[in-house]
Amino acid sequence: MARKRGARRSGPKKTTREEPGLMADIGELVDVFCSTCRLNLDGSVTALNGAGHVVQITCRTCGNVQKFRPPMADEEQRERLLRKAFAIRDRRGQQTLEAQAEKGKAYSTNELMARWRAATADADHRAPIYRETEVYEVGDFLIHNQHGLGVAQEVLHEHAVLVLFRETEVPVEMGKVYDD
Ligand SMILES: [Zn+2]
Repeated sequence: MARKRGARRSGPKKTTREEPGLMADIGELVDVFCSTCRLNLDGSVTALNGAGHVVQITCRTCGNVQKFRPPMADEEQRERLLRKAFAIRDRRGQQTLEAQAEKGKAYSTNELMARWRAATADADHRAPIYRETEVYEVGDFLIHNQHGLGVAQEVLHEHAVLVLFRETEVPVEMGKVYDD
């Protein structure tokens, strides 16, 4: 049977243009999906449309003003990550000459993502923003402005901690002291 165009997938309901939208007041805290943090977070309502529906929010974590997006269901978020991982792998598959070398890389990308997913399963979506002046311990969550949500893996020394992010695992600076 042909799928009807525009037929809705079953599963978590998403707010779309034809749906009524979320009613809230300016300044009120609502659940949002922040496109910068790429996480479900608290957003403060900054604009409503004529019908009183939320159209713009400020992410309370990163402070970015953005179009309101309703929080994403965990499953949906995971699916997205998987699709992205597969897309990367497919692109790599087309480059036949580099295919062998790239295969190992694609595998480690998926493995990294799998580790990241497992390590961040308990993140409460309210992780603090990374600051180089902060001191991190193994298991600490942080949100990095380039890499997104990360988990501290290993304290390398007083001023560096190895952090597992969705797409990379890198040392980041910590415990930095600024002289006045
Ligand atoms: Zn944010």
